[in-house]
Amino acid sequence: MTRYDIAIIGTGPAGLEAAITAKVRNKNIILFGNKELSNKMQVVDHPILNYLGLPSVTGKEMAAAFTKQLEELDIKITEEKVTSVYAMGNYFALQLGNNEMVEADTVILASGVVAGKPYPGEEKFLGRGVSYCATCDAPLYKGKVVAVIGGGADEEAEADFLGEVCEKVYYLPLYKEEPHFTHDNIIVVREKPVEITGAMKVNKLVSDQNEYDVACVFILRAAQFPGQLVPGLEVEGNAVKVDLQMRTNLPGLFAAGDIAGQPYQYIKSAGQGNVAALSAVNYLAEKQRKQ
Ligand SMILES: Cc1cc2nc3c(=O)[nH]c(=O)nc-3n(C[C@H](O)[C@H](O)[C@H](O)COP(=O)(O)OP(=O)(O)OC[C@H]3O[C@@H](n4cnc5c(N)ncnc54)[C@H](O)[C@@H]3O)c2cc1C
Repeated sequence: MTRYDIAIIGTGPAGLEAAITAKVRNKNIILFGNKELSNKMQVVDHPILNYLGLPSVTGKEMAAAFTKQLEELDIKITEEKVTSVYAMGNYFALQLGNNEMVEADTVILASGVVAGKPYPGEEKFLGRGVSYCATCDAPLYKGKVVAVIGGGADEEAEADFLGEVCEKVYYLPLYKEEPHFTHDNIIVVREKPVEITGAMKVNKLVSDQNEYDVACVFILRAAQFPGQLVPGLEVEGNAVKVDLQMRTNLPGLFAAGDIAGQPYQYIKSAGQGNVAALSAVNYLAEKQRKQ
């Protein structure tokens, strides 16, 4: 298996700047995200007035400028969701949404901020009927009834896959648009998820109007809470605790951008991505000196 120098999670300004800096420093990188870059750029129609070098651009124009720079540096985006990052001692193992594993000496988390809090029961039942990855865990619930909390239309493909494998799927969209599925055993429920309950394992999803008997609740958000993505990571609220070098409590793991706390700004995210990449480069050099 290839062991990358730096794995970067996120294609917003923080992850992109980290990738550019690491590439300029000649590191072997893998960049996870999507070719649209960040939904926070795609939705911003108002002129962005405070990004140095790009006066008065829309989010889409900014994304186009960033994409051009990636192409010029031959930086590729791997369109896979990272579902877990495990600290293995002197390297990291990253589990992907397609169930594959990738290894890297260092990791930069630049996956943006997640609004809100975990649902009551979510953390308690993680791995016992709460899952963040349909592709990974669907076979465990073959022929069973499950629920999906869908954070955005991008998550519908994963729910559709569950429709193929499970007896019935309750789909609770957290967005206004009408979801589209190819399987008619997926029932769209316009109710607010409130709590996940069970005994040893999950047996119910409670909404603001009903209770659903289910074997698993798949929570498919655009981004995960950082402590859930990386076991053992120190967080404060929904932000990762970092120092001025963007180091976290886990040696070799760095965080940048909105995930590292306020203010939520493009230029601050890019700046922190730059610092995180340089810190990762220094960490790799130090590691090599010690070998
Ligand atoms: C409506 C709106 C208007 C705004 N206007 C301004 C403005 O005018 N000026 C300004 O400075 N800021 C503005 N902001 C704030 C700005 O959008 C954010 O601060 C910035 O996008 C944060 O960049 P980031 O790289 O940290 O994260 P994001 O841009 O959120 O990018 C995170 C990336 O991580 C990816 N990702 C998440 N989880 C995973 C995973 N598990 N695996 C793989 N990839 C993953 C996502 O797909 C995404 O690509 C605005 C925000 C909003 C919502």
